[in-house]
Amino acid sequence: MREHLGRAARAAGRDPEAVRLVAVSKTFGADAVLAACAAGQRHFGENRVQEAARKFPALRAQVPELRLHLIGGLQSNKARDAVRLVDVIESLDRTSLVDALAGAIQKEGRAPQLLIQVNIGREPQKGGCDPDAAEALRDACAAKGLAIAGLMCIPPAEDEPAPHFRTLAALGARMGLDWLSMGMSGDYRTAIECGSTEVRVGSAIFGAR
Ligand SMILES: *Cc1c(COP(=O)(O)O)cnc(C)c1O
Repeated sequence: MREHLGRAARAAGRDPEAVRLVAVSKTFGADAVLAACAAGQRHFGENRVQEAARKFPALRAQVPELRLHLIGGLQSNKARDAVRLVDVIESLDRTSLVDALAGAIQKEGRAPQLLIQVNIGREPQKGGCDPDAAEALRDACAAKGLAIAGLMCIPPAEDEPAPHFRTLAALGARMGLDWLSMGMSGDYRTAIECGSTEVRVGSAIFGAR
């Protein structure tokens, strides 16, 4: 996978080192994560706090440099578990979560990096804040002492992804955020062409779920 990524980055005229690979290990067991670690992978993504809590504490004990990203929707009542467990929360998408996270970060004495998830296709059923609300959400975080490190999106499955990726990149540029989490197994090449700095790849690494 790393080789494919490197090729995609070079084809887009970009430095392969500038695109981080997050291996999405949801539904796969600790064995699969350890095998990826043995191949040099360090950043992993999970979409559910409970599943991550079952798998990762033991894995971290074995691989201390492992970094865990929460890429799925976060309920306020799981904020404290998430803060205790993960290194990056990519699914901050509403002001009601800001208070919960700020409180959890204070109580745990541990502060994961935070990305705002943007509902780039404005799909009613999907998580993420409206693109027009991202700056206000960042301001709400700042008011609670929380810094936003970047933006994440999942384009609508039925759309051509490039315009959505470009919209997220433009929003990031306007907000002065250069960490752009965009691109999955089916569209990471396009995402890299559009400026992605992090791709979240599951099935292309671990196989079908
Ligand atoms: C599952 C998931 C991925 C990985 O998807 P693949 O198509 O398996 O690469 C990426 N991002 C999010 C938010 C996911 O839930």
